[in-house]
Amino acid sequence: MSNRKVVVVGAGPGGLAAAMQLAHAGCDVTVLERRDRPGGRTSAIEMDGYRFDCGPTFFLYPRVLNEIFAGCGYDLMKEVPMERLDPQYRLTFGGGGQLDCTPDLAEMDRQIAELSPPDVGSLARYMDDNRIKLERFRPILESPFSSIADLMRPSMIGAAKHLHPFRSLGQELQRYFSDPRLVIAFAFQSKYLGMSPFNCPSLFSILSFLEYEHGVWHPIGGCSRVSERMAEIAEELGVKFRYDEPVRSVEMEGRHVRSLTTDQGNYAADAFVVNADFADWISRTVPNEKRKRWTDEVIATKRFSCSTFMLYLGIEGLYEDLPHHSIHISEDYENNLREIEQTHTLSQDPSFYVQNACVTDPSLAPSGHSTLYVLVPVTHQTGSIDWEAEAPAFRELTLDRMAAIGLGDLRRRIRTEHMITPQHWNEDYAIHKGATFNLAHNLGQMLHNRPRNRFEDLGSVYLVGGGTHPGSGLPVIYESSRITSGLVLKDFS
Ligand SMILES: Cc1cc2nc3c(=O)[nH]c(=O)nc-3n(C[C@H](O)[C@H](O)[C@H](O)COP(=O)(O)OP(=O)(O)OC[C@H]3O[C@@H](n4cnc5c(N)ncnc54)[C@H](O)[C@@H]3O)c2cc1C
Repeated sequence: MSNRKVVVVGAGPGGLAAAMQLAHAGCDVTVLERRDRPGGRTSAIEMDGYRFDCGPTFFLYPRVLNEIFAGCGYDLMKEVPMERLDPQYRLTFGGGGQLDCTPDLAEMDRQIAELSPPDVGSLARYMDDNRIKLERFRPILESPFSSIADLMRPSMIGAAKHLHPFRSLGQELQRYFSDPRLVIAFAFQSKYLGMSPFNCPSLFSILSFLEYEHGVWHPIGGCSRVSERMAEIAEELGVKFRYDEPVRSVEMEGRHVRSLTTDQGNYAADAFVVNADFADWISRTVPNEKRKRWTDEVIATKRFSCSTFMLYLGIEGLYEDLPHHSIHISEDYENNLREIEQTHTLSQDPSFYVQNACVTDPSLAPSGHSTLYVLVPVTHQTGSIDWEAEAPAFRELTLDRMAAIGLGDLRRRIRTEHMITPQHWNEDYAIHKGATFNLAHNLGQMLHNRPRNRFEDLGSVYLVGGGTHPGSGLPVIYESSRITSGLVLKDFS
């Protein structure tokens, strides 16, 4: 393969994993990245001696990346040491009650007994059912979907009876738990896909199963450290990185892309692997008339995930009693979800998530200080919110809400601060509508209905990352890199 040239657009987790695998297979790989560092949404934000993850903080199901590292001759856990968290996270409910979620199922049942005695024992049944479900779905998540005919594969038929296309994740969990708080405790993970559990397909009950069965991990240095190490390893494998070089346009011959242009030069290759946010990249870079399926008009009809309002706070001291991850569920959760997905308004009582990473990893802040990462799910951009005007008041509301998890004195301890709004995700991170988790994951936008790994609109172009199959979230993004690299190498041979 050494004479085969591949250009990867974007050094996000999907692009990095594809670059590693293609270089290891002998391809001549160049990565073009618009920002000054690797990692995309999984990069680091560093200021005044504090280090934050920009996006992902839950490292789940290390198995996929482990296998990719091993395939390239590296050991993931040696390259980026990780700690399995216990408790995985604390859940507090605005309506009352809390759970310190742990992989120790007996301890979970003890806590469930305090919230809802009739639900004791249901978790074991849920785990047994989802173990089988994941095994049935794994072959589907691990292979490409190139056409509707792929729905007739034996693996698909075997999984079909677990699919329940008309059942939402919330409804699926109601089959196990009678207390609405427990339904949320095992369904809120759909927020990792940027979706309400009540619109998200029931298939995704495997997400909370993955946490309990395979662990919630913290890579030392943060999830961004995984991206940085991947970029270093890719370089060791011969990959060339060109930072601060956004791809501006494509040159085509018929329906085949022959080269890409940046402000610094023109890059010809045999294959182009696009990791940039799909909807943003295609609408900026490829003329509408050159696209068959994914025209601007079609993209405008698609559903997109929610966005997030972020605060990164460097603080004096450490909240020793606050676990590594805390999730607070709004008192009227269904209304909060409606505000995010339907009315596109800002909530007065939003759910939120706080990471207090220094309880596990003091390396992230100067001595005597710590970091807090605050994420509030909000609507993606629809024109309903003017973030420049609204952000200061929403910051105040968010800081007020921190009292709900015991951080009433937070304001006076803040020493440095950074904010990202949906507008920043859109403009600074090149994410369509600021929809941080890409195209939504309803069944009409999954499998062969998602933009395909071997991209159907342009010859020699392949997609990798959260915008293609299998979807958003690090484990499946890494899986997409395996699928896509496999297709590139197959087409070369
Ligand atoms: C706030 C937040 C929290 C999240 N939390 C989790 C979590 O806890 N666990 C989890 O598993 N997942 C999480 N995710 C989801 C997901 O894992 C990450 O968003 C992940 O980084 C997406 O990876 P990707 O490969 O799709 O590409 P991205 O990270 O989006 O990277 C794409 C790269 O392409 C570059 N690019 C864009 N346009 C161009 C261009 N024209 N030319 C060159 N380069 C370009 C970008 O600069 C970027 O570096 C979270 C996401 C966000 C935003």
